[in-house]
Amino acid sequence: MFDYHGLKISWLGHDSFLIKDGKTVIIDPFKISPIKDKADILLISHEHFDHLSPDDVKKVVNENTTIVTIPAVKKELSSLKVKEIKTAKPGEKVEVGDVTIEMVPAYNLNKFREPGKVFHPKEDGKLGFIVGMKGLRVYHAGDTDAIPEMKGLKPDVALLPVSGTYVMTTEEAALAARMVEPRLAIPMHYGKIVGSEKDAHKFKELAVCEVQILEPE
Ligand code: ZN
Ligand code: ZN
Repeated sequence: MFDYHGLKISWLGHDSFLIKDGKTVIIDPFKISPIKDKADILLISHEHFDHLSPDDVKKVVNENTTIVTIPAVKKELSSLKVKEIKTAKPGEKVEVGDVTIEMVPAYNLNKFREPGKVFHPKEDGKLGFIVGMKGLRVYHAGDTDAIPEMKGLKPDVALLPVSGTYVMTTEEAALAARMVEPRLAIPMHYGKIVGSEKDAHKFKELAVCEVQILEPE
């Protein structure tokens, strides 16, 4: 667990994070170790299996959980007994109690599954999130390349993918950090499917901002 000015940030591996200050926000749980916390707010960036894992979702929700996600994910989770499943589009803002969630686009510019077809097309409306809690903003970029919408987001903390293949390479993530201008960046999207700790360290070398590498919990 990493304490950022009172905000507790735990990396649960891959793109999964638990952010807590009073309320508990969990993002993209995937192959997580057992945890006691239930999510007040669960954010799912998109429907790919390493972000939407129904088995992991079940471990972290209860009837008080509000889920914020895209329509394709809501469809998959419609049988869950939770408080509410809200859908949102890039550019929208959702408030859940005293927590705000700003939706940021997440898409590829140059990661192709086949010629002319990227893994994460912009028109899908897959999400990144800026979670605002107690005056601090944490940006979870989702599966994305370094896109123009990142410019000047200026969160306190940015969680940036670094593995390459489906998302930014370390070099691109360093460029993204320049655009996003966070006070602190934490690398993610490595260690489980693609990418390794090496990528996290290379990102730390290249990035102009402060970088904190977390241990998975
Ligand atoms: Zn994806
Ligand atoms: Zn992914």
